[in-house]
Amino acid sequence: MNKADIEGVKSLLSSPKKIVVIPHKNPDGDAIGSTLGLLHYLKKSNHEAVIIAPNDYPDFLKWLPGESSILKYDSQTDLCKPLISDADLIFTLDFNALGRIGDMEFAVTHAKAIKLMIDHHQQPDDYATYTYSDVSMSSTCEMVYNFIEMLGDSNLVDQDIATCLYTGIMTDTGSFRFSSTTNHTHYIVGKLIEKGANNSEIHNNIYDTNSYERLQLLGCALRNLKVVPEYRTAYITLKQEELNTYNFRKGDTEGFVNYCLSLKGIIFAAIFIESHQDQIIKISLRSKGEFSVNEVSRSHFNGGGHTNAAGGKSDLNLSDTIDKFISILPNYKKELQWS
Ligand code: 5GP
Ligand code: MN
Repeated sequence: MNKADIEGVKSLLSSPKKIVVIPHKNPDGDAIGSTLGLLHYLKKSNHEAVIIAPNDYPDFLKWLPGESSILKYDSQTDLCKPLISDADLIFTLDFNALGRIGDMEFAVTHAKAIKLMIDHHQQPDDYATYTYSDVSMSSTCEMVYNFIEMLGDSNLVDQDIATCLYTGIMTDTGSFRFSSTTNHTHYIVGKLIEKGANNSEIHNNIYDTNSYERLQLLGCALRNLKVVPEYRTAYITLKQEELNTYNFRKGDTEGFVNYCLSLKGIIFAAIFIESHQDQIIKISLRSKGEFSVNEVSRSHFNGGGHTNAAGGKSDLNLSDTIDKFISILPNYKKELQWS
């Protein structure tokens, strides 16, 4: 955002507004953390603000301050529609294309509200009046802190805001280990701890709430892991039947794909998860270094994301999806093979 944009946003927020804040579908820690962090800030600044998520999110996020106020469009459509159409401002957080909000797309596209995007994914669409897009950022939560700071309001960051923003930075950086983690990220994390974020408690709340069944599912996923050594690639598959056996709940497979990257020498990882309900194979792609899984996902799997983390989907069945995946590896021979 340039100076003029910052002044524009400041003037918009200088009087109380009706505001809707929206994360992407199947929201993750960064999406929920950033929308809640921004919500608390907007409410403290005397706005009437509400978060509308396209759908539900994993239980391990259901302790965040303010979480119970989040509306879900898919199950509360009648309540959500008028809020969207009457809003003065709509913030869209942690995504950059309206296709990422599923069934909310029509209502948001046609809303009269001024739209503001805060996001760190590549290749943003041009739907917002104010676009704060920065692909070098670790997380949208880091950007929300910057946003509050740019508006001259860092003094308003309290324990609730700090807790929400810390959570999203932690989850999107794999606990501060991915290469997107910079000195600036740590600077902000330091500020958040200073404002009351309890780092150890947050970590426990997010990561140490496994069910026994989730660990069994992880065991199953690890047994299914395959390696394609010549392309420094590893992938995991999970069939619907396997998910059922371990009583799969939303969020249970979060982080599984990273086990592939923990193998020595592996720089490209994928997980393919069968969903009978959505009639698709859900795909998560991860990489290390320069290899862009955003490009792979955009070109072959109807998705996108970042250089080192992207999502996508396939309409083929699981085994055909794997065949397709294996068949495209030679296209990336130069990037993937040992030189
Ligand atoms: P995940 O694999 O954890 O679902 O997603 C990895 C990253 O890619 C996240 O930042 C997520 O927001 C993004 N992402 C996931 N699915 C899609 C998609 O279908 N399109 C785009 N553009 N980004 C996605
Ligand atoms: Mn994010």
